[in-house]
Amino acid sequence: MAEKADILDFSLEELERAVEDLGQPAYRAKQIVKWLHKGVGHFDEMTDLPQAFRHTLHEQFRIGKLQILESLHSKSGYATKHLFLLSDHNIIECVVIRYKYGNTLCLSTQVGCRMGCQFCASTIGGLVRNLSAGEMLSHVIETNRLLEENGERRIGHLVLMGSGEPLDNYKNTIEFMKMVHLPAGINMSYRNITLSTCGLVPRMFELADEGLPVTLSVSLHAPNDNVRKLIMPVASAYSVVDIIKASRYYYEKTGRRITFEYTLIKDLNDREEHAEELAELIKGFPNHVNIIPLNEVEGLDFRRSPERSIQRFIQVLKSRGVEVTRRRELGFDIEGACGQLRRSFYSGSESQHYER
Ligand code: SAH
Repeated sequence: MAEKADILDFSLEELERAVEDLGQPAYRAKQIVKWLHKGVGHFDEMTDLPQAFRHTLHEQFRIGKLQILESLHSKSGYATKHLFLLSDHNIIECVVIRYKYGNTLCLSTQVGCRMGCQFCASTIGGLVRNLSAGEMLSHVIETNRLLEENGERRIGHLVLMGSGEPLDNYKNTIEFMKMVHLPAGINMSYRNITLSTCGLVPRMFELADEGLPVTLSVSLHAPNDNVRKLIMPVASAYSVVDIIKASRYYYEKTGRRITFEYTLIKDLNDREEHAEELAELIKGFPNHVNIIPLNEVEGLDFRRSPERSIQRFIQVLKSRGVEVTRRRELGFDIEGACGQLRRSFYSGSESQHYER
């Protein structure tokens, strides 16, 4: 028998249609969304639905809840990494970051990644598969449940900065963002969602036209194509000039200021002239640069820039009128910092094997 469909993968419209096909009024779909986003694991818990209908739902659908394997807490207490088991035994990691203004979840969009950025751990094993919209949603639901159990605040912001390239899993990522935004459910404002991309230009234009005003973060990491090609294969497909055009278009369509991420790598992209070239490249529309000191990944050759180069780089940008912030490194000791989330396997039944 074919596996039942995961009800978390259904958009509201699809759910409304499915509910009507089962002879119920469309508004039942919103009732179901409310329960699903609260984290119920069984249709029987949806107490405002008729009992016979709950039974029918159970026969037709499954609720694709993720199983939590492990949670790792950073010493600082600011970050927690959760390891979730997917139904096909892949493991996916996500990180809760506790800021003063609330809790942020750093979420993956793919198991592995095929973009090949050479300083990033997520890409080492290549792409395994896309996450479904429901799987991404389930991360948020389960994390919220765990936070609540702990007496903590629910997730207030999402950053799609875990493993994977969101725009390489375009359809599911868009679906997910629409679902997490549903007022009947988690009701996350689009403004509180940050989508980070390595710069898939045609998809950036497409996203601008979607009418979902999420914050766009662009992983630039270089002020020109030559430097970028040294670390990002995607630079051979799209030039920095085209990325800037797409970013400007995104701003014009959504009114959202663009963030450019720039990971500082020793002797590669961290010289003063790189900062000057960067300032020149991005001038002319509202944006800001987020500096990420490289998190060194075991087995990869790149090194973090020395502190004085980091400071100097930031200073040059500031002196050119660029708005710049520096990424705080909160999840470092649990390998939950940028570029450190990677795919893992669950092997056998005896114990969890966590590939590093
Ligand atoms: N595919 C998306 C999301 C990736 S992760 C993207 O490319 O934007 C989010 C950010 O972490 C990206 O800017 C990525 O380039 C950066 N990153 C990856 N590995 C890193 C590392 N080892 N140290 C610091 N930042 C890293």
